Amino acid sequence: MTNTAHIIDGKQIAANLRASLKDRVTESKIRPGLAVILVGEDPASQVYVRNKIKACADVGIQSFEHILPENVSENEVLQLIYELNGRADVHGILLQLPLPKHLNPDTCVMAIDPEKDVDGLHPQNIGKLVTGLDAMVPCTPQGSLILLKTVQADLTGLHAVVIGRSVLFGKPMGQLLLQENCTVTQCHSHTKDLPDMCRQADILIAAVGRPQMVKGDWIKDGAIVIDVGINRIDNPETGKARLVGDVAYDEALQKAKAITPVPGGVGPMTIACLLANTIKAAK
Ligand code: NAP
Repeated sequence: MTNTAHIIDGKQIAANLRASLKDRVTESKIRPGLAVILVGEDPASQVYVRNKIKACADVGIQSFEHILPENVSENEVLQLIYELNGRADVHGILLQLPLPKHLNPDTCVMAIDPEKDVDGLHPQNIGKLVTGLDAMVPCTPQGSLILLKTVQADLTGLHAVVIGRSVLFGKPMGQLLLQENCTVTQCHSHTKDLPDMCRQADILIAAVGRPQMVKGDWIKDGAIVIDVGINRIDNPETGKARLVGDVAYDEALQKAKAITPVPGGVGPMTIACLLANTIKAAK
């Protein structure tokens, strides 16, 4: 009998979350405000920022867009962040990454008031996450956990393998899974026999940035697969580019219990969790 995995509908789950956030904003006395800083003219970053601002408007969050020229000095970026830190109508500050090479992302992120750090990248928030204190949690891992828990509410005792150890995703994802009482294996580019590691996973999370790297025979029967990767590849048949994840989706469908598609899986959850973090910051 052939297996066909349950497809985790991130688009619908994110829409439900956004609807509940909209209700919370409507009921709240405070109108949450998110400042978005974009440096330069990177087209992908422009699209991300546009989508975030539109999503804010949809749920009633006020957004303040700050577009700075590519050659802005670090001092000018820091001055803007200090000003936004002090503003009562700005509850969240999002600095769109990556920054141009002459700007140090660590210096800039560390200038953000940790309570307004809706991306959860300030070391104070990372430290709180690790110690189990209430923190601003990075949006993509937070969204991935929500998706996982729609499949299985209690993850206790499951073996989770996370491929990737970035500060943005892999490391916080590992911490969130530990808090859920999973046994966590964190893999990276130096991991020996990655396919074999993956075959031991009840939960397999791929955040690498390599198109369709995780093959069907790397996946244990009945595993839950969360595909975080977003990779653009050319389709020679249509001559157009298309998005694929880090997992060979069609193969994985035959093995997994549940899987997120790309697009329409983790991606929509990232923005929904950004809105949730902004509302949390306003409270
Ligand atoms: P990143 O900072 O480039 O990290 C990639 C990780 O993958 C690193 O830890 C790296 O290991 C590991 N890696 C690279 N090649 C590997 C290999 N052959 N075998 C095993 N591990 C390998 O990327 P990221 O920011 O975490 O993002 C990862 C992917 O998720 C990207 O495709 C990105 O576009 C996507 N993403 C999606 C969302 C969303 O909203 N859906 C949000 C964030 C990221 P080392 O540490 O050893 O170098």
